[in-house]
Amino acid sequence: MIATDAILAGIAALMAYATAVLIKWASEAKTPVHASVVTFLLAMMVAMFAGALVYFVAPSRSSIIEGLWLGSALMSISVIPFFLTYLNEVKQRVAEGHRFTPRPIVHPYRFIAAVVALVLVNELLMGATFQLAAGSVLSGGIVDVLTSVATSPWFLFTMSAEMALTTYFLRDRISAGLYRVLLLQSLIMFLSPTAFALGAWVAFSVYLSSATMIVLFIYLMEFIYRHRQLDAAFSHYVGALLGIYGLMMAGQFIWLYFGGWADIFALGIVAEMVVFFAAIVGLERFGQGLGTPWQLDANWTFGVLASIFVAEIFMGGLLAVQIDPAHYAGTFFTLPLSGSAGTIAYHAIYNGFWFLAGVTASTWFLTMMGIEMGALVLFKIRETPNLENRIRMVLMMSCYAVFAVFFPSIYYHAAFPNAPAQATVPVLGWSMGIGSAVLAASALTVVILTYAIMGTLTALFGRRVVCSTFCTAALMYQGTTLDAMKSFNRSGPVGRKYLGSRFSTAYSISTGVILGSLLLASTTSYLDSTGVWNVKVLGADPTVFLFSISFGILWYVLFVAVPYVGTYNCVTMGWCYTGAISQAFHKIGLFKLKVRSKDVCKACTTLDCAKSCPIGLVNMPGFFRTKGEFRSSKCCGVGDCVSACPYGNMYIYDVRHWVRGKLGLPLPAPRGTKLPMVGASPPPSATTATRATLTPGPAPSVRASPGGDPAPGL
Ligand code: SF4
Ligand code: SF4
Ligand code: SF4
Repeated sequence: MIATDAILAGIAALMAYATAVLIKWASEAKTPVHASVVTFLLAMMVAMFAGALVYFVAPSRSSIIEGLWLGSALMSISVIPFFLTYLNEVKQRVAEGHRFTPRPIVHPYRFIAAVVALVLVNELLMGATFQLAAGSVLSGGIVDVLTSVATSPWFLFTMSAEMALTTYFLRDRISAGLYRVLLLQSLIMFLSPTAFALGAWVAFSVYLSSATMIVLFIYLMEFIYRHRQLDAAFSHYVGALLGIYGLMMAGQFIWLYFGGWADIFALGIVAEMVVFFAAIVGLERFGQGLGTPWQLDANWTFGVLASIFVAEIFMGGLLAVQIDPAHYAGTFFTLPLSGSAGTIAYHAIYNGFWFLAGVTASTWFLTMMGIEMGALVLFKIRETPNLENRIRMVLMMSCYAVFAVFFPSIYYHAAFPNAPAQATVPVLGWSMGIGSAVLAASALTVVILTYAIMGTLTALFGRRVVCSTFCTAALMYQGTTLDAMKSFNRSGPVGRKYLGSRFSTAYSISTGVILGSLLLASTTSYLDSTGVWNVKVLGADPTVFLFSISFGILWYVLFVAVPYVGTYNCVTMGWCYTGAISQAFHKIGLFKLKVRSKDVCKACTTLDCAKSCPIGLVNMPGFFRTKGEFRSSKCCGVGDCVSACPYGNMYIYDVRHWVRGKLGLPLPAPRGTKLPMVGASPPPSATTATRATLTPGPAPSVRASPGGDPAPGL
């Protein structure tokens, strides 16, 4: 059997090479005759495997004859289009004589579709033939057989080799960005866990394909950050590919969790293959023109974020089930989808809710997200001139790492009573510590942590302690690409309604609802714990439910909806209860933004501070010009405005400055930021660069050379 497998593997390798060469020719075909030669040769391969399959389905003397007949018939048919095309060209040559020039391919999209279809059929037939030849049994209906073939090593590895080889053969015609994406795609195809039903292979492929996909997502996110206006064909390709990866990861999760149901994964594999070869054969479409800048294309950006999120949710679930099957098998999809229609609907909602909330709170999902978003934050740190801000971002990443490791141990015990009990320790922000039954034993500690520590730190250093350092949202929104999406705060249909530091009616309503729900959940939880009530929401303590729906589901839904609602929407729209309470402490605290010179602001025409603010606090320049400082309890202290000011005119004021002032100590000179450059044209900043990319034109300049207030420094 090993010898048979080795022979089949050798043939598969040869076929992969031959197919890759044919696809290269297809990509380079310019005339109808060239195109028909390629389709003819691909059709010959199809005919060959169709004949072989007839034999292997029921090996016998008669099936050899039948296979030969079928193969010969298909070969004969496939030669007809080639001859007709060739004869047509001969007629044109005769008619036009020396003036003859070959015509371009009449229907290039039909040609692409024909090549992709022939490659797909060829691979499926080869996969089926080799599976039978290797001793496997293909049983069930046509869908079962196709799924079995498309998820077999003969299909997956051969396809992966073809993808890598064609990418390599055509490397001179492929841009660097697309080249890397295609190679990573080939590797992901190779690392399909369904290829072998061996525990070691499944573990190896799940870990490595997840890691490769994370690298691909980071690369694509950073790529679109650096290329605000993508090649139109490339942007379509990226959109389609990410959607397919969402499908593939869902398929992998379902295959692993439900033990072998691979139809969705097979569909994803075939879709990926189709998209890949359609791009390769139609390579000339790439580089033909720029599409809409993605910062102006909310739907495309939403599609990218949503697809990546779907892939990550299922990747998180996949990793959780792979790493800790005993734990997670008992926590996902616990209610059966049976009974009356109402029962089925309730069970479906229950299962879906706790699956989403469970995955988003799992260590593996948080780690994966942390690596991905953390990489973008590292890129952001590299281009942040302000030292204080760089230090904050490092702290923020450290907090996220601690959270990702410790939080699930608390959450899982609370949300899933049947999950193994783990350490129950209080966590900052857990339902604000009010009457939380699940943490009743340590409620006092929670209250102290929540109000004493968070409140004191917020009062001293501002809301940035929570919203820009402790909270995982900070990491998610501070990386290069997500930070660039703050442009949607001004252009998004919802985001632009929340601009400025005023509290709109909508803001007050959402904050009121969230604080009211916190009070209601906490009271109910407390009464539950005393035995007065026994209220559960979707089977959970009300505070656990509130936390889960707020931070396990709603937060991510609105994260994906950033192109419509803007970044940091938890802050701008006021729907987060942790943020709302932190905001109250911020209001009475010392934190504010100050400028060294009001006159510099009066002369400033860039207003980069306002443009860079992810919260959309666009009214700050007005305050700087009149008062020299700005306070807003919406300000979460990310400090982008400080980094963006082209004159280095801004600084963050907090307890450090207050203490120095009280002690009469001199304030240290600003570090890691630009010195004032009054009178000079501002250097390009992130926001001016963005604007310049989108609207080419002269860079704005300062019209006056104002005098200045004494610069207090930091
Ligand atoms: S408002 Fe809430 S979710 Fe948003 S950054 Fe602040 S604490 Fe985090
Ligand atoms: S960008 Fe700088 S100089 Fe201009 S208004 Fe803002 S703080 Fe003032
Ligand atoms: S005003 Fe400045 S510090 Fe405050 S949220 Fe906006 S960018 Fe961050």
